[in-house]
Amino acid sequence: MFTATSYSGRTVSLLNDADRAYIEANAEWYCPICKERLQLKKGRKRRAHFAHHPNTRCPSSNPESERHLEGKALLFEWLKSHGVDVRLEAFLPESNQRADLLVKNKNETLALEYQCSTVDRELIRRRTMLYQSIGVQVLWVMPFDHLRRKGNVIYLKEWQWEAAYHASGAPDFDKMPSLYYFQPPSILWAAHINAYLSSKKAHARFVAHRLPQPTLERVRTPVVVPDDGQRSALLAYKKETRYGKRPPSTPFSTFVQEELLRKKIPIQLHPAEAGWFLPWQTWVNESPVLWQSWLFLQIIPYFHHQTFIASQSLEREKQLLSIHLQLPVARVQVLIDAYLWFLARLRVLMGHMDDTFTLMQTPRLPRSVDEGFAMDQRYASRLCALGDSIAPSGSFPL
Ligand SMILES: [Zn+2]
Repeated sequence: MFTATSYSGRTVSLLNDADRAYIEANAEWYCPICKERLQLKKGRKRRAHFAHHPNTRCPSSNPESERHLEGKALLFEWLKSHGVDVRLEAFLPESNQRADLLVKNKNETLALEYQCSTVDRELIRRRTMLYQSIGVQVLWVMPFDHLRRKGNVIYLKEWQWEAAYHASGAPDFDKMPSLYYFQPPSILWAAHINAYLSSKKAHARFVAHRLPQPTLERVRTPVVVPDDGQRSALLAYKKETRYGKRPPSTPFSTFVQEELLRKKIPIQLHPAEAGWFLPWQTWVNESPVLWQSWLFLQIIPYFHHQTFIASQSLEREKQLLSIHLQLPVARVQVLIDAYLWFLARLRVLMGHMDDTFTLMQTPRLPRSVDEGFAMDQRYASRLCALGDSIAPSGSFPL
């Protein structure tokens, strides 16, 4: 770490020029969090840093690799050069977390984490949600050698899906989940995910930002994907669900396929309204065609008895998805809201100001795979605003 407290209680940073003389003149350093004694290490090759005793029990101490220290310092200097209000190794007592960098904007507080080690999804999720619980957004930056790509396709590990940044809360389809990769000394790559391909890959737009010119805000602005490109990206996955292999066999996959078969629907003939990319898919391990088909087939029958539904009232669905998708209920609620608003964009439902929905057209199921894919194509055009007003046709009302 770069920060420490002196015997007399002054907290200093090795990256702050104004502290240099004071650091030279003092020999005793303590951790600002656990108060343990620290050692100042001045390697010839490595940046100077403070280190805990190897047997420390400090919650904030992790053996920091050289590149973690170096990347953190470079990103800090970049933000400083733009006059950003940024704190290095900021400790947040409310959530007992230490952010690599903590940025305060007019509208938000942002923790920037330079994640060099491989972690699991659960850890990323827990830390993200802890930050969000105290009103802090988090942006994960990974080292460049974590980036696996081929053209516009990015290959993702489970924890990287979770690290894809997007503001939580109200459904906002314009916010693409984004991943950031730092290539020292000065290239920050942004991968803006705009379509799901499988649990291991996604379609993304890549931008290489050469620091220090771009601002943090610029780096976080998603790129605009041309509509025709977006349409084919969305249809790549839909084509796979109709003509390709079945979704990977998981307990949830078996459960959904059994439920569908009870309604005489093989998975290839799933409703055309299901299997689309929503930004919140990054939270979910299971294929979108599975959870959306299931949810869609749960929702539509409600309209036989009532004229509108409220997403808040889908209690049974929420609980069930929470268990099957291993997702906190609050996140499932966001996911369901997002899906209902998505159906409104398809003009299947009409969404109202109070988050209730009415049915605009009675959906029909495809009778054949080809017909299903034709329906998918019409929806994709509609989503990408390529002008299409023909209602999808199919066999029987659900
Ligand atoms: Zn400590």
